[in-house]
Amino acid sequence: MFACLTAGCGAQTNKYSESFDAMDTFMQVDVYGDEQAMKDIKAEITRLDGLLSTTGEDSDVSKINKSGSATADEAVLGLAEKSLDLCRDTGGALDITVYPVVEEWGFISKDYKIPDEKTLSDLLQLVDHNKVAVKDGRITLPKGAKLDFGAVAKGYAADRAKAILDSSQSDSALLNLGGTVLAYGEKEGGKKWKIGIADPENSAGYMGYITCKDKIIATSGSYERCFTGDDGKIYSHIIDPKTGVPVDNGIESVTIISDSGALSDALSTALFVMGREEAERYHKKAHGGFNYIILTSDKKAYVSGGISESFTVADGYDYELIVL
Ligand code: AMP
Ligand code: MG
Repeated sequence: MFACLTAGCGAQTNKYSESFDAMDTFMQVDVYGDEQAMKDIKAEITRLDGLLSTTGEDSDVSKINKSGSATADEAVLGLAEKSLDLCRDTGGALDITVYPVVEEWGFISKDYKIPDEKTLSDLLQLVDHNKVAVKDGRITLPKGAKLDFGAVAKGYAADRAKAILDSSQSDSALLNLGGTVLAYGEKEGGKKWKIGIADPENSAGYMGYITCKDKIIATSGSYERCFTGDDGKIYSHIIDPKTGVPVDNGIESVTIISDSGALSDALSTALFVMGREEAERYHKKAHGGFNYIILTSDKKAYVSGGISESFTVADGYDYELIVL
């Protein structure tokens, strides 16, 4: 941890920073003006990681997955309820019970393989968010089913961090939770934050930027975790819960910008599964509750109208911008 002074207009505010590994990714927390808030955020994210991990022996999620039913922390119950709402609302494009299929493809063990059809259709019998029960502090699954909050957890962590900041002395912070970004308040000097959108072909680079304040930005990319099968095809970690097969619909990434981390994270995954046109219909139905940027392999950037003014394609990138 280190603190430093940042230059801005008017008074200078101490910046408190910490970086750490959690939720299988790298996290960077920068909080201005309140060191305790920074520490509390790190502690809360670490705690959530311990509760939600599918691989950690003692996590709430592991206990539920092993025994089919277990009591859970208030944070896990809250995330389960929120996620199940979003599973229903997206017509099952998001499904927090897809884990047995994700495992079979080797995305957890990294021992990748293309499952045979019979195995896949057997496993698909276990995938159904409608059969998850959250009641009296307990989560119960049908026999053999398994939960995975991987598509929503980082966004939910951003929401919990935002709640800590809301009751802190800080009115400015930037959190990068493995690509899910909380842009809290404004930068010093009253400027908006400038958030890079990863280049799908080189995720260390940025194909564009959005400027914003008080938003949570989540991206799902086919490039993030993928493998090349014996058939030469590239398989990504985002699975269509209806077929059990990694999505291959021409989308390279979906970025969602909204006031809610859980919503941004859940929808980045769900709109990826829906595909470009269904995503557009879903967005119209949601009446502006979020904005999106969809990048496709034919170098098009589909951008919802509400964000078009704050989105810029970076120099040297030849994306065709389509505002919807
Ligand atoms: P994200 O990076 O937020 O899109 O989340 C992707 C992760 O969520 C994957 O690595 C899987 O563990 C899991 N996942 C994959 N497909 C789905 C899906 N359709 N619904 C819910 N979780 C999924
Ligand atoms: Mg997601």
